[in-house]
Amino acid sequence: MFEISEYTVLARQINATLTGKTIRAGELGNSPHKFVWYNRTHEEFAELTQGKTVGLARAQGRWLSIQLEPGYVLLFGECGGKILFHPAGSPLPVKYHLLIHFEDGSALSATTQMWGAMELYEAGMEQERQYIKGMLPTPLDPAFTFDYFNHLIDELLQGQKRSAKSLLTQEQTIPGLGNSSAQDILFRARIGPRRALAEFSPGQRRDLYNAIVDVVGEIIAGGGRNDESDLFGQPGGYVRSMDSAAAGKPCPECGATVQKMQYLGGACYFCPNCQQ
Ligand SMILES: [Zn+2]
Repeated sequence: MFEISEYTVLARQINATLTGKTIRAGELGNSPHKFVWYNRTHEEFAELTQGKTVGLARAQGRWLSIQLEPGYVLLFGECGGKILFHPAGSPLPVKYHLLIHFEDGSALSATTQMWGAMELYEAGMEQERQYIKGMLPTPLDPAFTFDYFNHLIDELLQGQKRSAKSLLTQEQTIPGLGNSSAQDILFRARIGPRRALAEFSPGQRRDLYNAIVDVVGEIIAGGGRNDESDLFGQPGGYVRSMDSAAAGKPCPECGATVQKMQYLGGACYFCPNCQQ
């Protein structure tokens, strides 16, 4: 799944590569997939995208918007898979969930592995979409300060009991994070996935905040995670410390065996010694 870091890398690459290109023809998928959410028919999508020019792309949490000027926004959200640029003359994917041909012969394709939204809105209406409207500050927003984070935890303590992993991966409390980056964030903060928020020390709140900001920044600086592709089909340069490859091997910090457990809808990888 793309998280905020991968979408930020994609947005930057789109801004450097696609801005100003004019759409010759836009198509929704030729490969039916019941977990791809479209909000247009094939005919509407083709008609509304033809002749539009690519404007600014930006990431908001686990959503990527691309202005199609005048007047429209292409929105990808909650996707895994690939969003790829194809230079003129290069082969196009046989199966895709969205394909845009540009006047200069280049193209953009999107395919998703599990699910995802690929929608076209009148500009501004995408901000009204469920999950975007009312989105809390993401780790890349100026509003995501330590004070904000501290208050967020205080507020969550009034509600249902939640754990460290839940804070990072459930209900988009911190939009843009997901199961992949959460493993490294928790390892960096030396906090176990099941640790209850109520048990955090003031120091642990600070450590977790710093780990969120640092890991998100490092994944972006690395061009995304190495298990995801960028706009050019290249893997990112960020290698996770805690993932399936680490399970059963020595912790890079202390040498204890890295454990795997199923918890909250996905596997967790953690060091039982470093992460309390
Ligand atoms: Zn360790």
